[in-house]
Amino acid sequence: MPLPTVVQVVVDKPLSQGFDYLWDLEKLGLPPEIGHIVEVPFGRSSLVGMVIKVSTHSDFEIDKLKTVTQVAPLVPIDPAALRLMNFASQYYIHALGETIIPTIPQMWKKALDWEKIPKKLVAAEEKKKKTISELNSEGLIGEDDLNEEQKSALAKLRNYSSKGKEFKAILLQGQTGSGKTAVFLNWLSEVLKSSTSQVLLLVPEINLTPQLERRVRAYFPEKKMVVLHSGVTEKERGIAWYEAVTGKAQIVLGTRLAALAPLPNLSAIVVDEEHDASYKQQDGIRYSARDLAIWRAHDVKIPILLSSATPSLETWLAAKAGRYEYIRLDQRARGAHLPKVHLINTRDLRNQYSPGDSGKPKEKSPITKTLAYAISQNFRDKKQSLILINRRGYAPVLSCGACTWLSKCQQCSSYMVMHRAGALGKRPVLSCHHCGLVKAIPSHCPNCGNADLKTLGQGTQKIEDAIEEMWPDQRVLRVDTDSSRSSKGAEELFQEIHEGKVDIVVGTQMIAKGHDYQNIGLVGVLDADGRLFSQDFRAAERLFAQLVQVAGRAGRSGKDGQAGGDIYIETQYPESAVFQYLLRHDVDGFLSHTAKEREEAGLPPFSYQALIHAESKSLDKAIQFLSTLKGHLKSNGLIKTGLRVYDPVPKAVMRVAGTERAQLVIESDSRKQLQEVLEAIDTELRENSQGRISKETRVRWLIERDPINI
Ligand code: ADP
Ligand code: ZN
Ligand code: ZN
Repeated sequence: MPLPTVVQVVVDKPLSQGFDYLWDLEKLGLPPEIGHIVEVPFGRSSLVGMVIKVSTHSDFEIDKLKTVTQVAPLVPIDPAALRLMNFASQYYIHALGETIIPTIPQMWKKALDWEKIPKKLVAAEEKKKKTISELNSEGLIGEDDLNEEQKSALAKLRNYSSKGKEFKAILLQGQTGSGKTAVFLNWLSEVLKSSTSQVLLLVPEINLTPQLERRVRAYFPEKKMVVLHSGVTEKERGIAWYEAVTGKAQIVLGTRLAALAPLPNLSAIVVDEEHDASYKQQDGIRYSARDLAIWRAHDVKIPILLSSATPSLETWLAAKAGRYEYIRLDQRARGAHLPKVHLINTRDLRNQYSPGDSGKPKEKSPITKTLAYAISQNFRDKKQSLILINRRGYAPVLSCGACTWLSKCQQCSSYMVMHRAGALGKRPVLSCHHCGLVKAIPSHCPNCGNADLKTLGQGTQKIEDAIEEMWPDQRVLRVDTDSSRSSKGAEELFQEIHEGKVDIVVGTQMIAKGHDYQNIGLVGVLDADGRLFSQDFRAAERLFAQLVQVAGRAGRSGKDGQAGGDIYIETQYPESAVFQYLLRHDVDGFLSHTAKEREEAGLPPFSYQALIHAESKSLDKAIQFLSTLKGHLKSNGLIKTGLRVYDPVPKAVMRVAGTERAQLVIESDSRKQLQEVLEAIDTELRENSQGRISKETRVRWLIERDPINI
């Protein structure tokens, strides 16, 4: 009798092992290979999984093994992609199956529809042939158009792509508008000369893909490009992924999830805005797409380019130390000047409107006199203004003037944000940004019956109103997730700005990122102070990056030799380091200052951190769970020199949707030591859990490596 064929299959469950199944060659019509996507019986139903091992032996009784029922009509996932998954699974302490399977698009996970897939692919191919549209060659900066600095950057990059089969991480640092994108697109054109090479281009946000997509298409009209992010339809994503996996797509442009797409001929990676926090996945397997991309480049021996105006401290230090190649662009590509930074001290009463003023605002206005004057002047110069306020909605809290009532969310330890009519429904509402609860605005104080409810603070909608009132003849546009969801898509809103249909744009961080606006003369920043004093040690770094980024929106004018615009920042603390370095456009000074602070405090990147999250109906239980864990680590001698386990604490937003949340920070001087202790914790917790829920206390737990929000 011939030996049976046994395959080990992993499925999307938090189980550390795979399951053995028999492979019926006759029924399935092809031999098994590692990387096949298959359907297998599981419990009383069936699941889609991936083959990770093929053998003729099983530790279980062969007779009792079930049989693989179907194979997806797809080539096996390539070995390098599986190595990446294996690494991610180990590093982020996540089971292999629940690491791999969620990266597969729905289309390939519905075994019922596998038969229909080939037809869909043919149809998509034909549709594409028809829609190859006019390409816009605007922004196509060829090699000859590059300035000297860009040329020398390109020459250095070529050095790495031409060597072949060598890993190199490269930091390309330069202000917004210094021509980084032009450089890396010219570099990729070199890499793409080989007709099989694939390149991966990562961007932090969905909103940034259309613009870059147009630009990339203009450079490479004859290459197949696919776009992978959570905003494309399931079907489109399924097809794009297929084209990536089979090597048909040469250019893969996408957000963090694209970092995990199997790419058999991957030859170069670019991570644009490498410092951006959206590269970090915040649920499920909490990976950093940038870090995985670097690992991947190392594994398959290719160059990876990290591009940013404000590199992350990690990357910047690596470049400084010579571990990464360090390339800089210090001029602005079109000769435009840097924007001038103005700090408006809001403690200085001369900046405020007073009741007797002939100026319009009667109450204390969120827009100071200085800023208001500058906005008027900018309008006279026929330029657009951009006002950044990092909070959507009308006002962050509603309060009672007669008692102490505040609009607390009944399910969360946070306040419900007031949204005015039209934003989330016909009437104004209170909405919780943590749990999504929406409620009508009470007509009277629920506590004392007083009818005079007041808003505290301001969000984008309130600023929009204030601006409309102050400048009735200017056209105002609000850009935040509410406006892009309820009225038009983000892309349409950005288009209106490009076309000069608005004079003042009010928006959240959405407006700060990546858009190459042509006529912004002024940027105003209204609410920066809150983030100076966050408990999160990375808050200042993030604020700085955002301010540099939004400042870069000013003065990116299309005309040569244009003077830079102005950025006005309203703050009570103009003397703080973030603002002072910004004033001098001193990115390196700020990073070196921050590095020193972190080193003194022993914080990342001078140490390595992990979080153990615990969630329960009761805060005591969550804290108790973490204390017990800490006790266990102590009594088992796992807290060695170099390892610090802090006390469990409630999270900054302690309660969300009725669930109490606590965390335990673990810190180590060595990655390896941290890995060992996390593995020990995982083993310990798993023994007493079902999935990730403790059997005894029902506390839900999760291990997070390299957290970016503490
Ligand atoms: P970054 O990626 O650093 O923000 P970009 O590559 O997007 O910079 O360049 C900013 C703007 O300048 C773009 O509109 C781009 O087309 C243009 N640009 C880039 N390099 C040059 C150049 N050498 N000459 C003229 N324009 C350029
Ligand atoms: Zn009251
Ligand atoms: Zn809530």
